[in-house]
Amino acid sequence: MRPTDTPDRSAATLLAHGGMTPDANDGSVVSAWQPSATFARDHTYALRDARYDYARNDSPSWEPAESLIATLESGADARLFASGTAAGAAIVQALKTGDRVVAPRVMYHGLRAWMIDYCAEWGLQLDFFDANTPGSLDATLAAAPTALLWIETPCNPTWDIVDIAQAAALGHAAGARVVVDSTVATPLLTQPLLLGADLVFHSATKYLNGHSDVIAGVAVCREPDDFWQRVVAVRGRTGSILGSFEAWLLQRGLRTLSLRVRAACDNALAIAQHFDGHAAVSAVLYPGLTCHPGHAVATRQMQGGYGGMLSLRVAGGREAALAAVKRCKVFLPATSLGGVESLIEHRATIEGPDSPIPADLLRLSVGIESADDLIDDLDQALSG
Ligand SMILES: *Cc1c(COP(=O)(O)O)cnc(C)c1O
Repeated sequence: MRPTDTPDRSAATLLAHGGMTPDANDGSVVSAWQPSATFARDHTYALRDARYDYARNDSPSWEPAESLIATLESGADARLFASGTAAGAAIVQALKTGDRVVAPRVMYHGLRAWMIDYCAEWGLQLDFFDANTPGSLDATLAAAPTALLWIETPCNPTWDIVDIAQAAALGHAAGARVVVDSTVATPLLTQPLLLGADLVFHSATKYLNGHSDVIAGVAVCREPDDFWQRVVAVRGRTGSILGSFEAWLLQRGLRTLSLRVRAACDNALAIAQHFDGHAAVSAVLYPGLTCHPGHAVATRQMQGGYGGMLSLRVAGGREAALAAVKRCKVFLPATSLGGVESLIEHRATIEGPDSPIPADLLRLSVGIESADDLIDDLDQALSG
């Protein structure tokens, strides 16, 4: 859906209004949940609104969230999907047999595993670069023509930072389209399209909805070009659409995004600073700390905070890390991220035996609770 017509307002104001305007007939401040699967034509057999014929193609229930997210990302168009995975997959499925994808070695593990299988089975070439090795992206791009360069920043679970402007320039010089998984940064902290990316997508399950009660995704384009039309067609033709009620819940969640992201950033920084140098912790991985290798780039490309995600490497190793998770009382031992409640996970267990994640690493999704409660909880859990 196209951006709202009030892009000059601040993100906090646009979000609080949730992409909605009062109903012309009854003044309702909140738009109604619209579950209709189909749309009746008028007496001339014309559609009343050319966008809406059947709700697998387009639905008024998606409009407020799509227009709001398009505006926040400074994009031309945004489309909701059934999940973040569906949004990312649609971008790969819009490629053609023989196309080459270049992606970071460390990226969201579910999409990475799917991409490896899909590219092998459907005749696409897939090559990985190491986001932390200078020259790795240049060398990978130089090896063969590239259709799609995939970036994720900050990146799970070390919160490595990719310089989007630099990567986009390299990708474009190699003739590639550039897509950013910006789930962790949110449109409030980073706007990849303004840094040169062509496409951005989010798992809206995470910060955008923010309440751990909806699985959703969204993709946004800088230009509604032919490739974007293919992405939109994948959604309609494969039916990877968001349910109307889930879209309504997402729209409701978005209204508090600016408060939630600010609280999560503040809490995460407080936790990172508290445990930096702590006897039970061998390393704190958080781009907001000056010792993090991505700190300078993060400071340039993230505005207003470094995000709500951080990882702790536990000095006692795997067993000490697992024991600490079990002792947490405020942090819940669950996977996922970006909700109002804080979560902690032993990432190597979640990803399984093939995981490249160090066994002493605990991943924290910091919520909006009191920072003191969160720090006390981790202190008692780590001191055993
Ligand atoms: C969760 C997540 C995804 C996948 O999103 P789903 O909504 O779970 O399908 C993709 N990328 C990142 C960075 C994520 O955290």
